[in-house]
Amino acid sequence: MQEAKKPSRRPLICYYLAALLILMLLNMTFFPAVLEKPVQDVTYDQFMSMTYDKNVGQVEIEGDEITFTDKAAENIYRTTVTDDPGRTDRLFESGAQFQEIDTQPGLLTSILVGWVLPLLPFLLIGYFLNRRMKKAMGGDGMMFGMGGGSGFGGAGRGGGSFGGMGGGSNAKMYVPSSTGIRFADVAGEDEAKELLSEIVDFLHDPEKYRQIGAKLPKGALLVGPPGTGKTLLAKAVAGEANVPFFSIAGSEFVEMFVGRGAAKVRDLFKQANEKAPCIVFIDEIDTIGKKRDGQIGGNDEREQTLNQLLTEMDGFDGSKGVVVLAATNRPDSLDPALLRPGRFDRQIYVGLPDIKGREEILKVHAKGKPLAEDVSLRKLAQGTAGFTGADLENLLNEAALISARKNLPVITMQTMEDAVLKVIAGPEKRSLVNIERDRRITAIHEAGHAVAAYFLPTQEPVHQITIVPRGNALGLTISLPDQDTLHTTRNEMRDRIVVLLGGRVAEQLEFDDISTGASNDLQRATKLAHDMIAKYGMNERIGAVAYDDDSEIFVGRDYERTRSYSEQTAAEIDAEVRKTVDQAYAHCTQILTEHHEKLQEIAQWLLEHETMSRSQFEACMQALPIPEKQEGLLAGEEKTDGAEED
Ligand code: ADP
Ligand code: MG
Ligand code: ZN
Repeated sequence: MQEAKKPSRRPLICYYLAALLILMLLNMTFFPAVLEKPVQDVTYDQFMSMTYDKNVGQVEIEGDEITFTDKAAENIYRTTVTDDPGRTDRLFESGAQFQEIDTQPGLLTSILVGWVLPLLPFLLIGYFLNRRMKKAMGGDGMMFGMGGGSGFGGAGRGGGSFGGMGGGSNAKMYVPSSTGIRFADVAGEDEAKELLSEIVDFLHDPEKYRQIGAKLPKGALLVGPPGTGKTLLAKAVAGEANVPFFSIAGSEFVEMFVGRGAAKVRDLFKQANEKAPCIVFIDEIDTIGKKRDGQIGGNDEREQTLNQLLTEMDGFDGSKGVVVLAATNRPDSLDPALLRPGRFDRQIYVGLPDIKGREEILKVHAKGKPLAEDVSLRKLAQGTAGFTGADLENLLNEAALISARKNLPVITMQTMEDAVLKVIAGPEKRSLVNIERDRRITAIHEAGHAVAAYFLPTQEPVHQITIVPRGNALGLTISLPDQDTLHTTRNEMRDRIVVLLGGRVAEQLEFDDISTGASNDLQRATKLAHDMIAKYGMNERIGAVAYDDDSEIFVGRDYERTRSYSEQTAAEIDAEVRKTVDQAYAHCTQILTEHHEKLQEIAQWLLEHETMSRSQFEACMQALPIPEKQEGLLAGEEKTDGAEED
């Protein structure tokens, strides 16, 4: 810039031509392979199976053409794009590098369109300014020469966008999109939808909430395994509320130079504030929001970005109607600072769909696909335990692909089954046999908890049983109290241990074998027995002495429970714990042996339906016909803090 005053006789165009030449040379040297090798045309399913085999290196998607190399980059292939929404996820999982390119012009047009055209305005403006400056100060202005020059660095290959050329921190305009996606497009996930509809209502009319002084959460975290519809739900919130949707992935924040991530966050929130009410969606928030590990020289960039995000979330006025949604599948790896009040203080679990949910998802994605008479989406839902929404969408797509390749006019049930196998054999190599075995074990296990609880009058009623995995739990039996109680008695605690052992005992009775699935139950049963004896003084032999308190002392590098009793007392306590648990085990065995048939009936029902509500469970226990319709877990109840077991 300092040169601006120095008169220069060389015309501006020379600089541009020189720069253009350099860029063309760079272009050639960086992508020589692509120019030399012959391209082999392959079918789309070959591309897919290579993806599954993780044998795809670089992928470029241009218009309706996909050009890609194998992992070793030895061969170049080309195939034609079919409508395949699961592709991006699959490619990502396979570890391929891929990018989408808007158009696929030839070399010459790409130079013209990519390099010369974007420069034209600069040339013209430069020219005019040049003349004016010459008049004004008799010199040859270089100002635009410099500005344009720095812009080269930002321009991408083959598609120099003006946004990228400006330099500065406004690197990207966050163009809000109106998603047009509604809750109806998200099948299942009723609980999540219910929680999110509050946010929708708020976005409809932030003023209403402000007037009455109600504070809504600024942020909500969507938690759940990949492919369960978190992104879809966030879009649906924007669609339902009819507000703009700003979306960015956590990884986009950290890929740039130091300091850029923080600037991007600032930008994002500035623009969101101008467009309020709106939704800001941060996908994969764990990439920036990971726990700070306190390592020296940790990832400064990420930390800066995270700090900026925290600052922005604290700073913006929540009543204006900016709601920040974020998604993660690893909530426990998040920095706790993100979860404090006023930030993402609300977590919404987006879990794997159960049979009913899967059938609905299949219905959504089967629209527009011709199905044969014999196709039963219900049966398909039954055979796809553990599938996510994305898996199911993928399944239907695979089925369509197979049909097309076989020139079948409609998708048959046989094709669907082939597609199921293909999806299962996909990235994770799950096996049908194992899935079925695991489900059977989980079903008996959960039935064991439920039946034991039913026959113990001190225990809270069973509100829901499910064998759909959730978080770390393979299944869940949820009991909710009918009334609040403040005291827990010794009998209640004893019975509680019996219920906790129900899963293990049921496995033993049914399979004459036991699994690892009960380890958490056993831990909790042992802890409870220990507390009864050493904390609440409920054991005759040990006496009404509280040996344990919950205070912890710092020993060396870690906190440890204090222990204020002798080795001998410790041994006595251990022996009594053992006795308490053994007695409970015997009691549980007695109950479940007596009601073995009920146990099997419940387990069978769970295998077929996956979730069982309170009224369904009670009907079954009373040998009444089981109602088909399930009331929701929270129907008429405000509580969610029930007991959970895996
Ligand atoms: P996540 O963000 O949880 O990884 P996505 O929202 O990206 O999952 O889901 C990927 C795709 O899978 C969606 O675009 C949608 O087509 C399909 N999908 C996932 N869950 C559902 C669902 N509950 N209902 C309908 N489609 C779903
Ligand atoms: Mg997503
Ligand atoms: Zn259990």
